[in-house]
Amino acid sequence: MKKEFKSESKRLLDLMVNAIYTNKDIFLRELISNASDALDKLYYNSLTDKKLKVNKEDLEINLDVDKEKRIIKISDNGIGMTDVELENNLGTIAKSGTLAFKQMNEKEVKEKNIDVIGQFGVGFYSAFMVSNKIVVTSKSVESDEAHVWESDLDGYSIKKGKKESNGTEITLYIKEDTEEENYSKYLDEYEIKNLIKKYSDYIRYPIKMEVTKSKLKENSKDEYEEYKEIETLNSMIPIWKKEKKDLKEDELDNFYIDKFYDYEKPLKVIRSKVEGMCSYNSLLFIPSHAPFDFYTKDYEKGLSLYASGVLIMDKCPELLPDYFSFVKGIVDTEDLSLNISREMLQKTHSLKIIAKNIESKIKKELLDMMDKNVEDYKKFFKAFGTQLKFGVYSNYGMDKDKLKDLLMFTSSKKKDLISLKEYVSNMVEKQENIYYASGSTFETIDNLPQTEQVKSKDYEILYLTDPVDEFCINALGEFEGKKFINVSSESLDLDTDSEKESLTKLNEDNKEMLNYMKDVINIKEVKFTNKLKNHPVCLKSIGDVSIEMQKVINAMPTDQKINAEVSLEINKDHPIAHKLKSLFKDNLDELKNYTKALYNLARLIEGLNVENPTEISNLIADIMSK
Ligand code: ADP
Repeated sequence: MKKEFKSESKRLLDLMVNAIYTNKDIFLRELISNASDALDKLYYNSLTDKKLKVNKEDLEINLDVDKEKRIIKISDNGIGMTDVELENNLGTIAKSGTLAFKQMNEKEVKEKNIDVIGQFGVGFYSAFMVSNKIVVTSKSVESDEAHVWESDLDGYSIKKGKKESNGTEITLYIKEDTEEENYSKYLDEYEIKNLIKKYSDYIRYPIKMEVTKSKLKENSKDEYEEYKEIETLNSMIPIWKKEKKDLKEDELDNFYIDKFYDYEKPLKVIRSKVEGMCSYNSLLFIPSHAPFDFYTKDYEKGLSLYASGVLIMDKCPELLPDYFSFVKGIVDTEDLSLNISREMLQKTHSLKIIAKNIESKIKKELLDMMDKNVEDYKKFFKAFGTQLKFGVYSNYGMDKDKLKDLLMFTSSKKKDLISLKEYVSNMVEKQENIYYASGSTFETIDNLPQTEQVKSKDYEILYLTDPVDEFCINALGEFEGKKFINVSSESLDLDTDSEKESLTKLNEDNKEMLNYMKDVINIKEVKFTNKLKNHPVCLKSIGDVSIEMQKVINAMPTDQKINAEVSLEINKDHPIAHKLKSLFKDNLDELKNYTKALYNLARLIEGLNVENPTEISNLIADIMSK
């Protein structure tokens, strides 16, 4: 009986088969990766399951090509699949792929020529780009029966079949050539050899194929004869053990793209070989963009852990701190025994040492990138900076010292990201603090009245636009002995002594009026300021919670709501100041209206909502019509 593919898979299949721009070559690497995984799984299981008798030397992948019949067979003697597994694994596209796919619409994919396969890690299905029929015969090590999965793209069927030993055999019926596409090349020995060298050389099991060779005929000097011989096509050296000189161009990038389902090259590759207390090889990658699920709960951090070349854990989270969770890669060590349990692994001392080394290596490489290739670093920071800032602030700021040098914020002067070190070295004479302001975009912050006085002194301001920024800055507290000062907070103190004196006097003289206004809008304080140049009013936060932090916290889906304590500051030199004073003398009702209007204008500038929009708009219209 023929079954339909799940609808999501069907859409993706259609798209893939018709995608002209996708690199069709990669189908072979996908199938070989799957075969290699199946061999890994079998070997790994055999280490703990005594019933399984596996000899590592026997594990292999075989390719078989029949030019006449236009078929390629890829077989492995790995773990195999039961009928249920065939149904579950090949009836739908790998979960990771579909999820990403759901977030994109077809039009977008077509218009942008997105590399569907690379993007969604569709693996097995990529074989449909070159075949019009696929037959999978598989026998699981757990079962005595073999099953055959067959599909011509319209749907699939699963029935009982025959197979001597455990493993999987995949038969591809290669498409006929068309005007645009030469499919026959995939039946060519030479082409296949090249594809294996290019994409699958590092596979640690032999990939064998019968190849045609020629030799001089016996007793002849110039006559050749052809003969067949089984050849191993890959070097089998794990890529992380290869010497630099033996690595082909793009080999590491291709490995990354294949293994970690990315469609872009990594931003940076970090290789290390460590010997000593703990010996290991590591190959780490910093992606050039955040994976689609990076900032969700679904994202799992970790590095692939190999013990002497055998994969023992696909994503070992202990190898990476949370703030470096974006790093992908592998670690191969001889210091772990192969059949170590998950619980034991966590307690292993050598794993901790490796994790520590890896952490400092990543940090060193990032600092190096910032130093030598700041454009790349900015790209990195735009993708993963939030994670670093989060790292500063979580764990009660425990890790802040490790991370502070990696941080960047947007500078008011440069209009671009700069590091805190750079900020400090840019500080002008007499400047003692690091100034920052927060808001939703660069422009909103740049227009904030509170930035006026600081700018007039030629001080640089860090513009914080990421919700986590201010929490991060608060956790840091200081950098190289310089305090962080929010330009919108009371603690901003740039006035000279005489300026302060005359301001105190002004506020003292108008105390009654200011108190009256304060009671009208029910806030902590209303006062005159000399910090504003052109704007009539602004809000200042008093205490630790700023207005931006209030917004961030209150946007969280919890019941906990907070209110930043604020004061309303009035520009002492603005015409409105005189107006208020005269209203206080002879029209208290009107002063009430003015106070409400001014307070709500200040709220608007801060990006806060107007508390009672109808009342305020009537009130303003009222004032205007007088
Ligand atoms: P992915 O490899 O990303 O999981 P695939 O579509 O390539 O997605 O494969 C789906 C699943 O089918 C695999 O996860 C694996 O469980 C199973 N599978 C594929 N090829 C083989 C094979 N040669 N031997 C055993 N299982 C396989």
